[in-house]
Amino acid sequence: MDDFIVLKNLRKVYKMGDEKIIALDNINLSIGKSEIICLLGTSGSGKSTLLNMMAGLEKPSKGEIIVNGLHLEKMSESQITKFRQLNVGFVFQSYNLISTLSAMENVSLGLTFKGVPSSKRNKIAKEMLQNVGLGDRLHHKPSQMSGGQQQRVSIARAFVDNPKIIFADEPTGNLDTKTTFEVMDLITGMAKINNQTLIIVTHDEEISSYANRIVYIRDGSIEKITQNEINAQGEMENEANL
Ligand code: ADP
Ligand code: MG
Repeated sequence: MDDFIVLKNLRKVYKMGDEKIIALDNINLSIGKSEIICLLGTSGSGKSTLLNMMAGLEKPSKGEIIVNGLHLEKMSESQITKFRQLNVGFVFQSYNLISTLSAMENVSLGLTFKGVPSSKRNKIAKEMLQNVGLGDRLHHKPSQMSGGQQQRVSIARAFVDNPKIIFADEPTGNLDTKTTFEVMDLITGMAKINNQTLIIVTHDEEISSYANRIVYIRDGSIEKITQNEINAQGEMENEANL
């Protein structure tokens, strides 16, 4: 069951001039389908690098990344782009919305690349924004929304085509405490309903309580992995009212 995402002896070295930075070393990890995993560690420990490898955004220097039976480290750029389009949704700390587009246009953009006709795109985008509580902000631009609202738009965008995996890199890093919990309830609630695999990167221990397992990253290696016996997701899911 625990073999939806498998990492074997993963290593990533960045070369900067004469200097070698070992961002990740000897990473071995298996993640099950519909698991919620938190990668927890201090700044610079290698969390984002690890997330980027699993998402096919960066190639490893060594090792294997097997997602749903596919070896990402063996794929060409175009294969990996296709893999991302079909399988993966992203939520970033800084939302990464396109400032000139409305909430609805931002959410429907990903569907454009897949050739979904415009009337259907608009219908789906509207439904997604309603799901994240933004039914009354469809035509707002990012600058016309709060940080929490912008992150909700980016969540709607990440989940829009029901991808198998959602990657969230410090998704609450720019949000206040109350909004942090709302956003975490929303992301974990939606992932649970859709049986998606959710990988969350954070330095915040409070966030890690949302996960089934916490993978502690330290100096580019896995320090330990713990299981959360009880987490708040059941309650949260009801609260999110999805
Ligand atoms: P975290 O997300 O845990 O803060 P990162 O994965 O971003 O950490 O970075 C891990 C290490 O790799 C850090 O020392 C960082 O400076 C280095 N690093 C990350 N990306 C690059 C890059 N593109 N080039 C050189 N070094 C990098
Ligand atoms: Mg990071």
